[in-house]
Amino acid sequence: MIGLGLLGLLAAIVIHLGWADSSRAALQAPDAQVHLLPAALAQWQDPQQQGDYFDQIKVTRVGYLIWSQFPVKVYAQPAPESLPLIQEKWPQAVDQAIQAWQAYFPLEVTTDPNQANISISAVDPTQRSQGRIRSAETRFKLYVDDQQRLAHRFTIQVRANQTETYIAAAVRHELGHALGIWGHSQLKTDALYFSQVRTPPPISARDMNTLKRVYQQPTRLGWPVQSSDAAP
Ligand SMILES: [Zn+2]
Repeated sequence: MIGLGLLGLLAAIVIHLGWADSSRAALQAPDAQVHLLPAALAQWQDPQQQGDYFDQIKVTRVGYLIWSQFPVKVYAQPAPESLPLIQEKWPQAVDQAIQAWQAYFPLEVTTDPNQANISISAVDPTQRSQGRIRSAETRFKLYVDDQQRLAHRFTIQVRANQTETYIAAAVRHELGHALGIWGHSQLKTDALYFSQVRTPPPISARDMNTLKRVYQQPTRLGWPVQSSDAAP
């Protein structure tokens, strides 16, 4: 669950960032600006004011990890054939997690991996090459999209030898990271609590309050990259 790879984050940015690459040296990062909130988030209210954990959210070099093209498209890979026991429960658990977020955020399932903003896959922990994965791991890469905007893409890997409930909870948690909650809650009652718990909680008001605050922040993502050739 905690496999954020935060230490690997900076390295990932340097490797994948267009303007750090000599072949694209002419591109410059856009300035960080605020996007319009998606309607579902704009409408989110918490009349009981249960608070948030926004102070735990990490800011990356590109700013907050905010989507600005909606709906965000999610692709779930089929379970690996080496795990016959989860062939059915895997897609069910993933659907359950996606549906939980769809109540609050414009997410859409796609069957085309090339269209995906977020890809979710099951990892067979008995395969040696995958041996070090924890309960789940989420990473992002940056790229420049076909409209010359700085964009990001997430991959989520979930250890598949868990019960359906735990798989769903792990995917729900990791989707929270992929939607922009790039940090953890200190409360067990939040889906983004830093550790796995016996009875996994649903998405909480505090999760939503945090996500909404994230989307009110500036980001370089979603804005056009600038060509330094155009400068005088
Ligand atoms: Zn986590």
